[in-house]
Amino acid sequence: MTHAELTSAIGEQVRTVSGRTPQSATHAEFWAASSNAVMSKIADNWEKTEKKYNASRMQHYFSAEFLMGRALLNNLNNLGLVGQARKALAKYGQNLTDVLEAENDAALGNGGLGRLAACFLDSCATLDLPVRGYGILYRYGLFKQYFENGYQQEKPDAWMEEGYPFVIRREEEQRLVRYNDMTVRAIPYDMPITGYGTDNVGTLRLWKSEPIEEFDYNAFNSQRFTDAIVERERVNDICRVLYPNDSSYEGKVLRVRQQYFFCSASLQAIVENEVKQRGGIEKFDKFNCIQLNDTHPVLAIPELMRILLDEYGLTWEKAWQIVSHTFAYTNHTVLAEALETWEITIFDRLFPRVMEIIREIDRRFRAELTEAGYHPGKIDYMAPIEGNRVKMAWIACYASYSINGVAALHTEIIKKDTLHDWYDIWPERFNNKTNGVTPRRWLNQCNPRLSALFTELLGSDAWVRDLQKLKKLKKYGKNAAVLERLNAIKHANKADFAKWIENRQGITVDPEAIFDVQIKRLHEYKRQLMNALYILDLYFRIKDNPERVFPKRVFIFGAKAAPGYVRAKAIIKLINEIARLVNNDPDAAKTIKVVFVENYNVSPAEHIIPAADVSEQISMAGKEASGTSNMKFMMNGALTLGTMDGANVEILDAVGEDNAYIFGALETELPELRKSYDPRRTVAQTPGLGRVLDALTDGTLSDDGTGMFHDLVNSLLDSGGWDPADVYYVLGDFAAYRETRDRMAEDYFADRAQWARMCWKNITESGRFSSDRTIGDYAREVWKIKAQSV
Ligand SMILES: *Cc1c(COP(=O)(O)O)cnc(C)c1O
Repeated sequence: MTHAELTSAIGEQVRTVSGRTPQSATHAEFWAASSNAVMSKIADNWEKTEKKYNASRMQHYFSAEFLMGRALLNNLNNLGLVGQARKALAKYGQNLTDVLEAENDAALGNGGLGRLAACFLDSCATLDLPVRGYGILYRYGLFKQYFENGYQQEKPDAWMEEGYPFVIRREEEQRLVRYNDMTVRAIPYDMPITGYGTDNVGTLRLWKSEPIEEFDYNAFNSQRFTDAIVERERVNDICRVLYPNDSSYEGKVLRVRQQYFFCSASLQAIVENEVKQRGGIEKFDKFNCIQLNDTHPVLAIPELMRILLDEYGLTWEKAWQIVSHTFAYTNHTVLAEALETWEITIFDRLFPRVMEIIREIDRRFRAELTEAGYHPGKIDYMAPIEGNRVKMAWIACYASYSINGVAALHTEIIKKDTLHDWYDIWPERFNNKTNGVTPRRWLNQCNPRLSALFTELLGSDAWVRDLQKLKKLKKYGKNAAVLERLNAIKHANKADFAKWIENRQGITVDPEAIFDVQIKRLHEYKRQLMNALYILDLYFRIKDNPERVFPKRVFIFGAKAAPGYVRAKAIIKLINEIARLVNNDPDAAKTIKVVFVENYNVSPAEHIIPAADVSEQISMAGKEASGTSNMKFMMNGALTLGTMDGANVEILDAVGEDNAYIFGALETELPELRKSYDPRRTVAQTPGLGRVLDALTDGTLSDDGTGMFHDLVNSLLDSGGWDPADVYYVLGDFAAYRETRDRMAEDYFADRAQWARMCWKNITESGRFSSDRTIGDYAREVWKIKAQSV
């Protein structure tokens, strides 16, 4: 498509969406117009790809979350149209950046798990793999975060209320989903997933629930207006919001309703396609496999049994034979207590027939293991039903032909602890698939300067499709001119970030400082608190030593806390209070600044990561299944300051210990260390630590009398309920963290060329953390699918 063609396409589209001349149209209208032009461009290839995939063996990726972020720039990049779009928009006096910033993030996910699903779809499209994603079209995505006096506040994210051109409603493909207490229509909204350097266009299918009757006409006619829409709103509730609050019983019912909704609708579509393509259901597992992204879609297992038994009349044995060769399960957590379980009463109320099938799975499971001579206690623990609860992970483990963890260490831990009993009986099901991230969005798109350097040095952009090609750049690791350019690129990215954050939050930061970044969901195990305590300690050290020159640094945070997670919210407030203290202190603010980026999401991440020098990956060892921001930072030339946890272990393996800053207790050491661990003694023996903890409660920092900072200190010093003191070993690892972080900052300014050399090593070794590598492994080893080019 030439820029003249694009110019006229956008001109026509902007008139259509705005109903006025391009001269009067807004940035948002130009965004919609450009998006429509992209959709028109890919339509034919999309249809072709769908047809081809439907006829071949397919992998269906079931996930309750897809954290997609923005789509327009990604699509323009994939189609090679960024330059043309910039010129075309300029013809109308529009700046591409402003137009792109008018797009809302599709934030249909919470964090890493949902973003992984999005990166996977990108890789499947680029690799021409017959894969389709299935999820829910949430009307409200992840809540929007804003701060009021330093406290997190939430508001709804109405991300597509003003129209969203990248989904197509497929009215004719609707299905009915039946619950015991209601029957609803499930309408698919299909989103095209373009790939880089290919004509293939994949699909993400998001289901929306709608009532069978728009509203109760008779009730409305009799002026009972509220009654007329009660049923409609009950149906709309199903897709209203990502992760409804499930602290109440009714909240749990809604969450289960959501899960069943998209599993049932997706399976109906898949089964119907199978019958259409092959004329029957018998070969279902030869042509279809379903990856379960965590346990949220596990209801698909009994639901597929139901369809095969009740609608196709298969015997239990034949149906189970198909089902147990169809599903593969990805585990995302090491915490056994974090695995989903639901009250049987919820299932009995919503779908008694599915519950009946789960009972039969349970009965047969118990018979099978009893027959094999397993101990009754063990069978009770592993069975799908325990007492009055259904164990979703156990159903997944029993029915799936593949069970995978998401990083080498994580897979070892689930084999050893979390899923140990399963591994004992079915070791051949277990495999590791270390996560990855797409280099399209997380490098080529978000860091154009660095990408241009790679393309120049390699003579082509082939690295965007094959990140292992960056290895060829190793030879520049000692090239002073290249390293200087790397430093200059980082500096320019930092200046961009400084402008962006000044605009967004009115805070000024100096690109000469080290940008030290921790961006991820707020959780105690991720230890943002340890980071905060370090900053507070550094603040006191600066105040104590006015003559001493400390390395200049900007500490950048981005994090949302689950709305009901009180302690996580206290940590946000604490960081904001530390920011207030530090940034308003003339002595300290010369050397350090603290920035908490509001409403952290995919598109802020794209501004932050290319500007980062230090990547904080400081979870307590054994707790972070993989982490993926660690990989995004590595690709963009930031150095990891981290523990031996998740994929950090593999990053260290890739770059060598001279090129990362690793500290802290090992997962294998922690049980022994814990036995004799006394946090109060640790505080007494670590100079500065007592002063920092005191500052939380002595009036230095204010929690407005809520007592929340007191609770934070208590959580570190005293055991509470079942938890021992300092569950996440914040104080235990503090001294090692401080030593390593201090040294890292000194190193940065001591030898800028050496720092660049280390960054270069990280970049050139980042190929194995491309999601293309991850998806290649799944395709070959689990899904058994091959590329299908259109
Ligand atoms: C990559 C990403 C995450 C995951 O970050 P971790 O540090 O691996 O937990 C979460 N949220 C967003 C918006 C991301 O882009």
